[in-house]
Amino acid sequence: WSKDKGKDGFSFYEPHMKEKSVRIMQLELELRKAIDNNEFILYYQPKIDLKTNEISGCEALIRWNHPTMGMVSPAEFIPLAEETGLISQIGEWVLREACLQNRKWHEAGYNNFIMAVNMSAHQFKQPTMIGMIERILHETNHEAKHLEIEVTESVSMLSEEVIMSQLYALKRLGVSIAIDDFGTGYSSLKYLDMLPADVLKIDKSFIDEIGRMNHLSSSLMTNAIISLAKSLKMKVVAEGIENIDQIHYLKLHNCEYGQGYLISKPLPACELEMKFMRSNEKVFLAV
Ligand code: C2E
Ligand code: MG
Ligand code: MG
Ligand code: MG
Repeated sequence: WSKDKGKDGFSFYEPHMKEKSVRIMQLELELRKAIDNNEFILYYQPKIDLKTNEISGCEALIRWNHPTMGMVSPAEFIPLAEETGLISQIGEWVLREACLQNRKWHEAGYNNFIMAVNMSAHQFKQPTMIGMIERILHETNHEAKHLEIEVTESVSMLSEEVIMSQLYALKRLGVSIAIDDFGTGYSSLKYLDMLPADVLKIDKSFIDEIGRMNHLSSSLMTNAIISLAKSLKMKVVAEGIENIDQIHYLKLHNCEYGQGYLISKPLPACELEMKFMRSNEKVFLAV
């Protein structure tokens, strides 16, 4: 685009691009400070066993509580963190925090609790990812079998070699693998069969259609995904359950696990404890 440059050497696009990069640099600076200033917090959303209504574990979801911007959604800052490479540092913080919290819950008697942590494709590209996970598990004295890593089909953009070697290394560590937002990506069924994944999470968009007037095709998709998961010997989780009709439908069609606002929104650890762990009994839910 040097041809577009005028005699003075400034291109028409330059001010805009400069503005954009300044804005990104500012946000990047804010993100860097956020780690040092402890502005991140993890919320936890329970997953329940749809047969027993018992909580089987939860998913850690990051929140950024910025001093002036307030709560910033991960949908906004995770992409920036990926672009800038800060996701590695943030991801390490998330994993440590989630493992420490799960250790506390295990010590309090919930010793089968599974902690699920989201990892982005960018983290999967890092050759240091497996070493980092191993180190955090060791540091926090957290068993690998109680950790689940959620990845979206976006990892399929990485080379097959990279994904396979990272996923198999995770398996060797003893960590479980969940395919998040399943059905929205572009991975083929053949590809899914190759992946050493343990859990399929049916994307919310399929669950949304259940109970609606014109729900036939989506509930057929939900059924198909449940059968697919079962034939691949994978566990299946429905995400984004918001109403009773959906939960009844999923129970009827033998979906094993469920997650969604109907059961609980993501909550800070102490609120989750107050809501679900008050008595020293097993964690049950009235749905
Ligand atoms: P996700 O992993 O698919 O997480 C599910 C998202 O749906 C969460 O949004 C959750 O709050 C929301 N959700 C759960 N149940 C319901 C429901 O019944 N109705 C509705 N409308 N929404 C529901 P959240 O927390 O804003 O996170 C958005 C995405 O950001 C996550 O999608 C995940 O991809 C990413 N993310 C969150 N935390 C992390 C993290 O620590 N690391 C990485 N790499 N990504 C993260
Ligand atoms: Mg997830
Ligand atoms: Mg999801
Ligand atoms: Mg999602």
